[in-house]
Amino acid sequence: MKKPFHSISGLSKFFHSIRTKLTFWYSLIVFATLVGFGVTAYYYTQEKLFASLDYSLRNEVVWLKSFIEPKARKIKLKRPNRKQIVNKRQQKKIRKSHEVEVTNEDSLEVDQIWNQIYEHTLLSPKKQIIQIRDRNGDILYKSYSLGKEDLLFDDIPYNTIKLVTLYDQSGQALRLAVTQNAIMKIFVAYPEAEVSEVLGNLFSIFVLMVPAALVLSLLGGWFLATRSLKPVDRVTGTARAITVQNLDQRIPHTGVEDEIGRLISTFNDMIERLQSSFEKVKQFSVDASHELRTPLTVMRGEIEIALRAKQSGEEYRRVLSSTLDEILRMSAIVENLLMLAKGDIGKADLHFENVSLAGIVQDLSEDGEMLAKTKNISVHVNTSKEVFTIGDPMRLRQLVLNLLENAIKYTNENGSVWMSLIRENGSVKIVVKDTGIGIPKEEQTKIFDRFYRIDKGRSREMGGTGLGLSIAKWIAESHGGTISVESEVNKGSTFTVVLPLKPAHPH
Ligand code: ADP
Repeated sequence: MKKPFHSISGLSKFFHSIRTKLTFWYSLIVFATLVGFGVTAYYYTQEKLFASLDYSLRNEVVWLKSFIEPKARKIKLKRPNRKQIVNKRQQKKIRKSHEVEVTNEDSLEVDQIWNQIYEHTLLSPKKQIIQIRDRNGDILYKSYSLGKEDLLFDDIPYNTIKLVTLYDQSGQALRLAVTQNAIMKIFVAYPEAEVSEVLGNLFSIFVLMVPAALVLSLLGGWFLATRSLKPVDRVTGTARAITVQNLDQRIPHTGVEDEIGRLISTFNDMIERLQSSFEKVKQFSVDASHELRTPLTVMRGEIEIALRAKQSGEEYRRVLSSTLDEILRMSAIVENLLMLAKGDIGKADLHFENVSLAGIVQDLSEDGEMLAKTKNISVHVNTSKEVFTIGDPMRLRQLVLNLLENAIKYTNENGSVWMSLIRENGSVKIVVKDTGIGIPKEEQTKIFDRFYRIDKGRSREMGGTGLGLSIAKWIAESHGGTISVESEVNKGSTFTVVLPLKPAHPH
C-alpha cells in the first residue's frame, strides 16, 4: 500500500509545503511592514509639511505686522484717498486726528515701505502671496497675485492670527494666514498644491517600491526557505529508504548541531532503538521456537524408541515420566511467556494489596534452605524490621524466589546465600547475594533478556528456562521499581531490587 503522502496532488503538495507557507508569511510580513511604514511616513510628512507651512506663514505675518506697525501713521496719512471718503463720520475722524496734508516726502516714505516688503519677499525662499489692505478693504500692497483673485477674509479680533485653507475658483487650495489691527489687514498665502506635490512624489515612490519589494521578498523568501529546507528533504528521502531490511542504515549527519543536525541525531537514535528492538524480537522468535522445539525433540525421540519394540512396564513408566517432565517444562515456558506478553501489552493481571515483604523473605528462606540442602549451601536471612508495601503478593514472591533459586543454582557446593531487606527513605531494597560462579561484566546487561543464558547447557540441566530474570525485571518494573546486578566471576553475584514504598490506602 502506498503512503498517503504520494496521493497528494502536485498543487496541493505545493500549497501544503512549509516552503510555500514560509514564503507567504515572510512576504506578507514584509508587505505589511512596508505598507505600515509607507502610511505612517506619508501622514507624518504631511503633518510636518503643513505644520511647517503654517509656521512660516505665521512668521511672515508677524514679521510684516511688526515691520509695518511703527510706520503705520504714515500709511494711514496717505490713505484713504479723500475722494474715497464717503461718510461724515470718517471725514470728522480724519480731521480730528492729524490735520496734516500728505506731503510728497510721506508718499515717498510709504513707497519705500512697500519696496522693502517687496525686497523681503524676493529674498524669502517660499514665494508667498502677500496682500495688505486698509480698513476699507482697499489693497495697499500686493505681491505675486499669481493669477489668483484677491484674498478676502472676514474681520477677526485685532492682533490675532488666523490660519485657514481657502479654495479659488479652479478649486486650488490656498493656505492663508490673516492678521488685523486698527489700520490694516495682512494676508499671507501659499498654494497648498506645492506641498501636495511633495506628498504626491512620496506616494509615487511608495507605489513603485511596495510591489518591487514584494516581488523581491517573494523571491528571497522562496530562496531562503528552499535553502534551509533542503536538508529536511534529504533526511526525508533517506528516512523513507530505510525499511526493516536495512535498519543498519543511518542518515548522514551534516556535522552541524543546528535544528537539522539535532533532527538527524534524533532520527538516527530512533532508528538505532528500532533496530535493537527488531533484533530482540527476531532473537526472541528464534529462542522461543528453539526452547519449545528442544523438549518436543526429546519427547519424540523417547516415544519413538519406546514404540520401536515392546518395552517393559518399567521402561514405559520411565518414558512417560520423562515426557511429563518435558511437558511441565514446556508449560512453564508457555506460562511465563504468556505472562510477559500480557505485561508487554499492559494486560497483566496484577492484584495489588498490602504486602509484608519481610513475610515473603522469611517464607522463602525456608524453601531456599530446602533447595540448598543437597549442595550444602547455607542460606542467611536479614530482615530486622517489618516492611509493608502495596503490591501483588504472588508476583513479589515469584520475583524473590527467582533470584533465590538462581543464587542457589549458580553457587557451588558449600557456598553461601544471603537475603536481606533494607529499608531506605521512601524505598526498600531486596538484596540476594551469593558466593557463586559470578557473571562476566559483558553479560550483566544481557541476562535480563528473554531466554538469555550464559551457559545454555548448564541452565537447562538445572531446569532453567532462561526467563527467570526477565520475569523478575518485569515484576520489579511493574511495581515501579528497578533491578540491578553486581558480580565478579568466581566470587559471586549480588542482585538488588529497589521498590518504592507505597503506603496502604486507608479503607
Ligand atoms: P535461567 O532459567 O537460565 O536461570 P534466568 O533468566 O533466571 O534464566 O537467568 C539468566 C542467566 O543469568 C542464567 O542462565 C545464568 O547464566 C545467569 N545467572 C542468573 N543468576 C545468576 C547468579 N546468581 N549467578 C550467576 N549467574 C546467574
